[in-house]
Amino acid sequence: MAATPDKPATVTPRRKAGRHRGEGQWAVGHFTPLNGNEQFKKDDDGLNVRTRIETIYSKRGFDSIDPNDLRGRMRWWGLYTQRKPGIDGGKTAILEPEELDDEYFMLRVRIDGGRLTTEQLRVIGEISQEFARGTADLTDRQNVQYHWIRIEDVPEIWRRLEEVGLSTTEACGDTPRVILGSPVAGIAENEIIDGTPAIDEIQRRFIGNPDFSNLPRKFKSAVSGSPQLDVAHEINDIAFVGVDHPEHGPGFDLWVGGGLSTNPKLGVRLGAWVPLDEVPDVYGGVIGIFRDYGYRRLRTRARLKFLVADWGPEKFRQILEDEYLKYKLVDGPAPEQPTGTWRDHLGVHQQKDGRFYVGFAPRVGRVDGATLTKIADLAGAHGSGRLRTTAEQKMIVLDVEEAQVESLVAGLEAMDLRVTPSPFRRGTMACTGIEFCKLAIVETKARGASLIDELERRIPEFDEPITININGCPNACARIQVADIGLKGQLVLDDNGDQVEGFQVHLGGALGLEAGFGRKVRGLKVTSAELPDYVERVLLRFQEQREAGERFAT
Ligand code: SF4
Repeated sequence: MAATPDKPATVTPRRKAGRHRGEGQWAVGHFTPLNGNEQFKKDDDGLNVRTRIETIYSKRGFDSIDPNDLRGRMRWWGLYTQRKPGIDGGKTAILEPEELDDEYFMLRVRIDGGRLTTEQLRVIGEISQEFARGTADLTDRQNVQYHWIRIEDVPEIWRRLEEVGLSTTEACGDTPRVILGSPVAGIAENEIIDGTPAIDEIQRRFIGNPDFSNLPRKFKSAVSGSPQLDVAHEINDIAFVGVDHPEHGPGFDLWVGGGLSTNPKLGVRLGAWVPLDEVPDVYGGVIGIFRDYGYRRLRTRARLKFLVADWGPEKFRQILEDEYLKYKLVDGPAPEQPTGTWRDHLGVHQQKDGRFYVGFAPRVGRVDGATLTKIADLAGAHGSGRLRTTAEQKMIVLDVEEAQVESLVAGLEAMDLRVTPSPFRRGTMACTGIEFCKLAIVETKARGASLIDELERRIPEFDEPITININGCPNACARIQVADIGLKGQLVLDDNGDQVEGFQVHLGGALGLEAGFGRKVRGLKVTSAELPDYVERVLLRFQEQREAGERFAT
């Protein structure tokens, strides 16, 4: 079934008339690369760059790196060049890539299902302190990101990560990225089904597999059997969401084609119920469709969401069944509306085995290596060997005996890791932004952290669940379109008519069964300096005018 330029598809190639001719779809025989990215992927598999990093680049240094590896294939191993310090956001779109490139890298560690042992977390923290100037951000895809990585140190970092079962394989690039998983899989009292075995099998079959290492673009996935809908399944290329089938029992509802950035689209249900042991096969079918039929002509139309939008769910399901699975899927129910208002598992909760898990919040996912090492030590000292990262830039300590909970909570709070955070700290996320990201126009992490502090000081009584997501550019790494208040970084004019950092405001987005994109309020832009005043005004007005039971997004 694998379709590659060297290995034609076993699905019957078809040439269809119409507007999709020439989209670069392998399954219809369009193997000629139609852009530079497709060319470098055809020239050499991104996975192969690892050998060059280990044998050449790490020994000869940054200047020895082939440009197609530097800005292309190194992503297959989680490496991006970071932004040169001191370049303002107004130059982002003007400068050539080599002018923006620093000789240091961001390195992303994939944490499938967000699962970490205390030993793994300790190693992540130690690497941060030794090789990454102490940096280590928790991302909203359950990963950890380092900055300031030198190419010379990458083989040793890989050795240490892999020694404890972690990797950076396909953490970036046109590949099957990290598989999101419920952060409380296997432990939550109210779990419908534990998706962990499926995540492990998907990792084993598909990650680092050359049959799936040249996709049209990134492929984001999520598996959660939590009724809290805790992995943002609506905005993944493929998602498996726990449901109880009236005849067949617990399994997963299949969603495809979600994705944000420009042209955001929510995933659609295929109306199919998938039992746990078939999840990897279905994942294989969907990623196969993406590889074979995905549009490769334009990067801006290459995500799976465009194919799903063109085909519609019925045709997508039919091709999945007929050409890839070779069997019919069972029809199934939709997930139910979650009862809780937050999806993040913060606070203290009893596990199904009687022990407890404790979720806590740093500010906007910003921690550091020393803190991560201390968290690992603290968890270990309280009898825990396991932690989880969440899709909201937060963390959870698992398996804590009741007698240890109070002391653990005190230890976390003493490190400014809040177990019962304000709604602002709980609901605010920020992407990497101009500090390290070459695409950024504005500062985000520090802006988000200071916004949280300001709001806590100004309106301490505010008790409504609220999400405030801050992006440094029009991309959507911090999911601005599905936040109550989404802030898209751009240059704006201040009162004097000068260009300054600021944000386009989107209001009223949401995830969940009432998911929708926020409205871009025409003309509503705020400067970064005005941001706390603006958000405070919006929140106070909502608080004054809300009706009983009304959520911000409604
Ligand atoms: Fe960079 Fe833009 Fe993504 Fe933020 S949203 S991390 S600025 S690409």
